[in-house]
Amino acid sequence: MELTGWVKPYEWGKVGISSAVAQMAMANDPDFVLNENETYAEMWMGTHFCGVSIVKETGETLDRVLKKDLPYLFKVLSINKALSIQVHPNKCEAERLHKERPEIYKDDNHKPELAIALTPFVALVGFQPVEDIIDYIDEFQPLSKLIGKEAVDALHQTRNAEELKRNELLDVFNTISADFPGDVGVLSLFFMNLVRLRPGQAIYLGANEIHAYLSGDCVECMACSDNVIRAGLTPKYKDVNQLISSVIFEGKSAQCKVFMPYRIDDTVQVFVPPVDDFAVIHVSIKYIVDTYKLQIQPFGSILLTLTGVRNLKLNTKEGRKQITLTRGSIVYIPVEAAPEIEFEHAEDCNEDFSAYIATFNYFRKA
Ligand SMILES: [Zn+2]
Repeated sequence: MELTGWVKPYEWGKVGISSAVAQMAMANDPDFVLNENETYAEMWMGTHFCGVSIVKETGETLDRVLKKDLPYLFKVLSINKALSIQVHPNKCEAERLHKERPEIYKDDNHKPELAIALTPFVALVGFQPVEDIIDYIDEFQPLSKLIGKEAVDALHQTRNAEELKRNELLDVFNTISADFPGDVGVLSLFFMNLVRLRPGQAIYLGANEIHAYLSGDCVECMACSDNVIRAGLTPKYKDVNQLISSVIFEGKSAQCKVFMPYRIDDTVQVFVPPVDDFAVIHVSIKYIVDTYKLQIQPFGSILLTLTGVRNLKLNTKEGRKQITLTRGSIVYIPVEAAPEIEFEHAEDCNEDFSAYIATFNYFRKA
């Protein structure tokens, strides 16, 4: 089944055609009308009720056709301005928060998430090691005043002196503080790791790991949830007390935040997070390759095409089917397609093919 994603115009999104979300939506749907002044922040692919995908052929929603929810939610994000500083609750907290405040925490699921950069991507991820935080406090005296002598002294007692690091922090500081005047959240730059991803690199955020995406485009996969506990850099509701009680206070270096996929062969890499809800397969087929056969397990998957053209051949309930994949194509791959789908060379295509497939995390079980 070919699908149309659900586009979200959050105000932090990139504007007009500069947004990867708008580009994907235009390529996917001939009826999509681009507004050059509109922000296009996210495109959702899946069955979450806040943005369920539509089956192109019939106009039905995907959840109705499947008669169930998928365990994951797949997205494209296009970020112009920092997203809120946030954590996502674990399953147990999510159940409680949803019960107590359903207007803010709209579902009862946890939301571990994986972001894979499509363009150079910048994010704050986790807390820095204590020694690095001390360096910043020593370097920026107003910060030291703000935190208070007692806390600074306590930090110094655990000090493990290291060279003072100079980086591009102040540029990022100036950008964020211009976008969010007066928002105290900008100070999190001095406590969190600034991580830069090249296209294809990824980060994984488990429950209660603090983060804020700052700029760039990515595909993102997560458990099927929209639960966010926010504490800054946002006009949305901030639940600071809840974030402080949930967040994991653990300092680690920026290098250990990059999440590595494992390679199956020259064509396929798999991102396998430590949760059952989802995994992401990256298929990257050179144009000279005639047909590539991908082994899959019998779980419903969603494929998003980024570049190139291929004829996808797969088994369905109604027999063997062929779908031409082009940039922006979103396809639901049914259970019946297992154990193998084929990507056949399309005529007149001399571009390499690239697609991401979100699926249940059967790699973890294996
Ligand atoms: Zn998040």
